[in-house]
Amino acid sequence: MAAPYREIIKDIRLAFPQPTSDRIHDSYLVHSFMNALNQVDALKMHLPMLGAVVEPDYEQARHAELPQDMSSVEEVASELVSYLRGMTVVGHPRTQQNVICPPSIPSVIGVLLAALHNPNLGWDEHSRLFALAEVEAAGITAGLIGYDQKEAAGVFTFGGTGTSMYGIRIGLEKACPGTLRRGLSEEAVVFVADTGHYCAYSIAGWVGIGSDHVVSIPTTPENEIDLHLLEEAARTALQDGKKIAAFIATMGSTDAFGVDDLQAIVALRDRLVDEFDLPYRPHVHADAVIGWAWSVFNDYDFEKNELGFRPRTLRALAGACRRIRELPLADSVGVDFHKTGFTPYISSLVLVKDYKDLRLLKRDREQMPYLYQFGKYKPGMYTLETSRAATGPMAALANYRLLGVQGIRVLIGHLVEMAQLLREHLEGHEGIIVLNRDNYGPVTLFRVYPPGKEAFATFTNRRKEFTDPACRDALLAYNDYNRKVSAYVHEEAMAGRGVLLSLTDCYRHTIYGEPVVALKSYIMSPFVDRENLEIIVEKVLEARERLRKDTVSRKDRKILHWFA
Ligand SMILES: *Cc1c(COP(=O)(O)O)cnc(C)c1O
Repeated sequence: MAAPYREIIKDIRLAFPQPTSDRIHDSYLVHSFMNALNQVDALKMHLPMLGAVVEPDYEQARHAELPQDMSSVEEVASELVSYLRGMTVVGHPRTQQNVICPPSIPSVIGVLLAALHNPNLGWDEHSRLFALAEVEAAGITAGLIGYDQKEAAGVFTFGGTGTSMYGIRIGLEKACPGTLRRGLSEEAVVFVADTGHYCAYSIAGWVGIGSDHVVSIPTTPENEIDLHLLEEAARTALQDGKKIAAFIATMGSTDAFGVDDLQAIVALRDRLVDEFDLPYRPHVHADAVIGWAWSVFNDYDFEKNELGFRPRTLRALAGACRRIRELPLADSVGVDFHKTGFTPYISSLVLVKDYKDLRLLKRDREQMPYLYQFGKYKPGMYTLETSRAATGPMAALANYRLLGVQGIRVLIGHLVEMAQLLREHLEGHEGIIVLNRDNYGPVTLFRVYPPGKEAFATFTNRRKEFTDPACRDALLAYNDYNRKVSAYVHEEAMAGRGVLLSLTDCYRHTIYGEPVVALKSYIMSPFVDRENLEIIVEKVLEARERLRKDTVSRKDRKILHWFA
């Protein structure tokens, strides 16, 4: 009699894709997937969520146990689908919360194919033409942003954070050679704008620079790094004998789409090299994980405007492009396809202008004895990761093929056009002010003032509120007010009336050090259209009415008096 396990292994085999051609089983695979999709579809409703939001019981989850017996593919699929309950539908036109994009169908197919055949990009011996896909996706991106394709190279990594980590680690090796082996024994610093991404701190900590050695440079009211303060800080660091591991230029900040003046940062770096006679060239990394996609407009004829964008949209696109065009000046660039490239997570690419920079990260072959005897493409010799999925490059390549330059222009252009329309609607009301007027992305930050306090929303008084310490009480009171407006708008959206926005607790700091709270609309769905914008204004005005009696404190009156 056959051992009992022989029966069970038969079932297990059915739960795997078949290794040789078996069309019937292929249909079973597709059917299983279809079955799961049907169940997800049943969760869809008019709200921008998949069914009601479920309160998770983490305590129970911590005590979860491995079941004794097997389940069927169908049972598992149903159980997995249940984890989608309450999930935000990121592609819904009434979801405008954050820089999270809905992935296209081809990008999902790319992920699926890589998942099914499980290539490991560490080495082409284990990934064959998936390795080619990585080189191709990197090549296309290098060409798109304006790097010389002969000199540039890139690898996909574990997120935008990973891309900056490569930039900083390469820069550290340039500034403090040999530290990849010996460790760091001198002080190195990293400069980044205060509106830049906090991942600089995590990275500095993880690579041993220390997060205390990230120098946060204040930004101008346009959310760009203040070049004078940057220069001052860089000079001070060099005079104190510190090494500069990297200048990070933020090319599209997370909260406000601020774009740093990369050209000026590179020029500053060059001046400092000459003046201080530095034996290394401080590395300039462009954190363009959001802004890279605007490169498609580098050679758009804004005069002809063949795609027919509105004048305001054109101005915005051209404004962003003025800076994005400078990307090839950076020594390395971070690109997130999962931010503005419409792929699933994780699809992040770091590009270096000069492929030789990657050699700085190379490990000794003796450290990797069991790998890399054959093959041509061995990024595993220098990547931080050992195993590396091919899902990211396949998804990126899928969208490049699907959209082409034209398609990306239309997608990005549409998001910006919608954001500009929203701004027009918002600015039509005297109690609302758009905070990031001079930044041109798909994100709009705005602040609302109560009826009777519209004066705060004028340009001059806003300046006052953000720069004069005498306004501290008013600022804090209106921070609170905006939280309440946000809560109301959110409640309404969850009930199917309105749009899911988010609230930022710190759009930026006032000159006197207090955070500025603001409502945020981040438009990332190709499905957003006019009607989804008008309702935002409607809901905000409704919130003002509801809160009318709520917030006119004596303190407020005093401050208003001061403004008059
Ligand atoms: C999101 C973001 C990051 C971090 O990227 P992940 O992909 O989330 O790791 C870094 N920089 C900027 C400007 C970002 O918006």
